[in-house]
Amino acid sequence: MNDLLSVEEALDRILATIEGPVSTERVAVGDALGRVLAEPAISATALPPWDNSAMDGYAIRSADVAGAQETSPVVLAVVGEVRAGSAPDRVVGRGTAVRIATGAPLPEGADAVVPVEETTPVGADGGATGPRGRDATGPLPARVAVYRAVTVGGSIRQAGSDLAGGDRLLDPGMTLNPARISLLAGSAVDRVLVRRRPRVAVLATGDEIRAPGQPLGAAGIPDANGPGLRALVMTSDADAIDLGIAQDRLADVRDRLAQGVATADAIIVSGGVSVGPYDVVREAFGALGTVDLWRVAVQPGKPFAFGLAKRSNDPPVLLFGLPGNPVSTFVTFELFVRPAIRKLAGDCELGRQVDRAVLLGEAKKSPGRRAYLRVVAQRDQEGRIVRDERGRVPVRLAGGQGSHVISALAAAEALAIIPEDVDGVDAGTEVELWWLDR
Ligand code: AMP
Ligand code: MG
Repeated sequence: MNDLLSVEEALDRILATIEGPVSTERVAVGDALGRVLAEPAISATALPPWDNSAMDGYAIRSADVAGAQETSPVVLAVVGEVRAGSAPDRVVGRGTAVRIATGAPLPEGADAVVPVEETTPVGADGGATGPRGRDATGPLPARVAVYRAVTVGGSIRQAGSDLAGGDRLLDPGMTLNPARISLLAGSAVDRVLVRRRPRVAVLATGDEIRAPGQPLGAAGIPDANGPGLRALVMTSDADAIDLGIAQDRLADVRDRLAQGVATADAIIVSGGVSVGPYDVVREAFGALGTVDLWRVAVQPGKPFAFGLAKRSNDPPVLLFGLPGNPVSTFVTFELFVRPAIRKLAGDCELGRQVDRAVLLGEAKKSPGRRAYLRVVAQRDQEGRIVRDERGRVPVRLAGGQGSHVISALAAAEALAIIPEDVDGVDAGTEVELWWLDR
């Protein structure tokens, strides 16, 4: 048992047990935030569907205004108007213009739009009826003076210039974020085939752990991990199932786990995974399937149990036994559980985005283990994150680095990663940074 597993080895072993993502369902695009696509998304329309105007102005024939200048405007007859949402009912013939709104379809005959800012309205008697750049919502003038030449295609968005109908918009495995939802909805896709949300059950353990509102008594502590883990599950775009708080008794832990096995894709247990006389989680995992107790070269986060609960027809349920200290629970969730949930969800991007930081003070750690320090970023007076000349974020420790210090965990904005091979780092050391922004 002297061999420590590296963080990568542990994660690889976990991910290797997940044979495939959860099942699919078809949902409305507007309800698909955080869901993973299970089939390619294909545009149901060209965008724009027809040539349209990029500006409020006048649809014209560019040849008509080729000689237009500030001092000698060209005057055109205004023969009609197209509003957004209405089809053009006039053709733009030589010497004429049709007033057009941003996004309205270009009338036949026009090959450019002159922005309203380059025009003034002209009355039937030839006199100006409004100032330059007049708000285009006023009454339709009889004529318009154009003060600038425009090129063919000027201020026109061509049909299909954003997307063609039938374009492949997104690939299976992509998670739907607000911009992708907008893309699908904007290309007339109304329902999408996505993975259902993974179901992840959470069980706190410990004779000392008290549910919210329960008196603490002489030796009780409030349950931080149950609610904390369920919140982490929700930010992983999965559904959290509450299995409550188990006493440190095999039967209680096992029975609650069995409940989870019936409903969940994965179960997270906090506490009870050490080798003390009351640490029954490993045995309970063993009663439902297989279990490994790993010593992972990570600080905080050792020990860590992983198992699989067998089911007759469905894939096995992943069993995570996380150390009970709340900071260890949190860090091991980020390291091992979040990527597993995302793999269950069918997400094709399991890696985290990393940043670079520079430590403002020194920090100590255990040699041989990779440390994930809880840190705060330096900010300027407006609250914006500062970067040094090399683009690195200066960070300082968020508080005590003990695995029980939840005040520092809550203060932290990021985890700074210190490699295995050192027993501490000096101020000024460059480190990898993980933002905790979800
Ligand atoms: P364990 O891993 O069970 O040995 O627990 C390690 C430490 O974490 C102990 O001090 C526990 O009291 C504490 N702990 C375990 N579970 C929780 C919990 N759900 N909420 C807060 N602290 C916990
Ligand atoms: Mg315990």
